Amino acid sequence: MVIDCPGCGSIDRVQSIRAIHDMGVSTIHSAASTTALAYTPSGFIPVFGTSSATSTQTSALAAATAPTPELPSSSGCLVGATVGIAFLALIGFGPPVGILVHSVSKGDTSLMPGAVMGSVMLAVLIVAPIAIAIAVTTSRSRRTTRILRGRPAAYATWSAGYYCHRCASTFFAFQPAPPAPAVPVHQPLSVSQFRAIVWAAGKFG
Ligand SMILES: [Zn+2]
Repeated sequence: MVIDCPGCGSIDRVQSIRAIHDMGVSTIHSAASTTALAYTPSGFIPVFGTSSATSTQTSALAAATAPTPELPSSSGCLVGATVGIAFLALIGFGPPVGILVHSVSKGDTSLMPGAVMGSVMLAVLIVAPIAIAIAVTTSRSRRTTRILRGRPAAYATWSAGYYCHRCASTFFAFQPAPPAPAVPVHQPLSVSQFRAIVWAAGKFG
């Protein structure tokens, strides 16, 4: 299959989107050694250590033509923060509850309104973050499910994509036919139009 660019007609600078993506996404392992001085009762001593890191680098073009949106990050930190806030608020319940018990037992109601108000505010502090965490986690997992479900359809369209490095246009070259009738074949598209068509195929919304 000869793949000429529908934008400029050249064939020498046309590359498949898949190849651009494979080349543009790289995982880098790095190790670094560190030297520092540490203060001890007997004076400063040199400290040596090593650190290693793994990072993923994506070229701008590979990112712009990604077949799927990024999966939402996990909610681990959010849940941790929620539990922390709820726990602190739970500890805070001690004083107002103590005042309430004291007020009831002594028949002294002067501090009751403040104690009741404090208890209500603390209850909100416990319930609100938990409710928010549940809502965010549910929406993230729905989004993850939707992305995973649409991935095969998006890949089928995406893998027929080509990019011309001469005129910076993308296009689809399906053989024998596009997977969906809405996908334009051999028409010059901008990178954002290309991605919009791929993501529409995956129904990522
Ligand atoms: Zn071109």
